[in-house]
Amino acid sequence: MTHTTDISVVVPLYNEEESLPELTTWISRVMQQHGFTYEIILVDDGSTDRSWEVIQVLSKENSHIKGISFNRNFGKSAALNTGFKKSQGNVVISMDADLQDSPDEIPELFKMITEGRLDMVSGWKKKRHDPISKTIPSKFFNFITSKISGIKLHDFNCGLKAYRSRVVKHIHVYGEMHRYIPVIAKWNGYDKIGEKVVEHRERKYGSTKFGLERFINGFLDLLSIMFVSRFKKKPMHFFGPLGTLSFLTGFVIAIWVIGDKLYRLRFDLPVRDVVDQPLFFLALVALIIGVQLFLTGFLAEMMAMKSNTENEYLVADQIGFE
Ligand code: UDP
Ligand code: MG
Repeated sequence: MTHTTDISVVVPLYNEEESLPELTTWISRVMQQHGFTYEIILVDDGSTDRSWEVIQVLSKENSHIKGISFNRNFGKSAALNTGFKKSQGNVVISMDADLQDSPDEIPELFKMITEGRLDMVSGWKKKRHDPISKTIPSKFFNFITSKISGIKLHDFNCGLKAYRSRVVKHIHVYGEMHRYIPVIAKWNGYDKIGEKVVEHRERKYGSTKFGLERFINGFLDLLSIMFVSRFKKKPMHFFGPLGTLSFLTGFVIAIWVIGDKLYRLRFDLPVRDVVDQPLFFLALVALIIGVQLFLTGFLAEMMAMKSNTENEYLVADQIGFE
């Protein structure tokens, strides 16, 4: 299905009242200069300033501007996800509201998706206007994510990204997973991921919404995303081997402790109480942990089975069906 809208620009925002008029004017100017049909989706993530009033005024002045207002602050991921699902453009571009990303990049990003046949393009803030406390950890974080995911990007968390429409319709961005959208995209089969060096500007109004905890949260999210992606469909493949290993270890030690005792009794050698031996307790713990892991595996498997049957697999194309 082709849409009549070329580009949807999705902008998550939290308390960015000062930036919005300038941002939307700039985006509209670029769209008109290049003759794109477009929509701008401003997702107000529970702002406590006047952002929503500003959006209502802007949307009256320019019919391309649409707004969504959250009941409360649900986070950047939720805002992006909602904007993505509502978007109608063939190419969807996400952009921060704080004027740190430049709308002048839009035409080239559009071209990379349409002519370059890429699934998504991620911006790379090669020259950053951020404090060093942010740039250094960010380098480390990007390096690790790239190594683990096998995606060769320098800047996973750049707010400026472009997607083929079906990509944003198929991926679910929740929690704080906006940092891993390229990874999520790849896992859904969208692995034609490009990168474009983009201009990064100083924040003009307001202040950053993320503190240093972003790195701790980011790292924990990376762990869960790795775990879930590998074992979500088959949790028993994770818990099973560990449980088996632990149970067998305990079992062997228990046999040894009992065998040793019987042997000593048989040949009238000096004996200790079984409960006097450290090995006995080791066996006990290993057996119990083994059983626990197995039971956890079964429970997880039952939950996964339920979600697996509800899950639809992403079909790239089909022929001969209505
Ligand atoms: N943002 C949001 N919800 C939040 C936090 C941030 O929608 O809970 C938006 C914010 O308004 C901005 C974008 O996400 O448009 C990036 O945030 P910010 O500029 O504070 O991040 P930084 O540039 O410091 O990484
Ligand atoms: Mg910013």
